[in-house]
Amino acid sequence: MNPIERFKAHWKETKKNVSHKIFPCPSCRQQLRVPVRFGKKLLVHCPKCRAQVQVQFPHPLAQLKQALITPQGIKRVVITLVIIIVLITWVTWYRNIGV
Ligand SMILES: [Zn+2]
Repeated sequence: MNPIERFKAHWKETKKNVSHKIFPCPSCRQQLRVPVRFGKKLLVHCPKCRAQVQVQFPHPLAQLKQALITPQGIKRVVITLVIIIVLITWVTWYRNIGV
């Protein structure tokens, strides 16, 4: 197996794992496999005990927004921005001196 094929196989496996989530049924512990639909609510029927389970996958962007709203998140964003600005300033300044 060449590296590209191996990467493709790995990617396929990763995608398969990401697009489905396995969780136990709340009433009988049967493992349920549900497709992940971000930002949507799914009603799952347990095949064993016929219980209805509502599953909700928060949208990744909404999660990111929520993470950024916290004081630590804002601080992290500010620090990242400062580092980027300092780097850009340093690179342009260095280039001007060099020329
Ligand atoms: Zn069940």
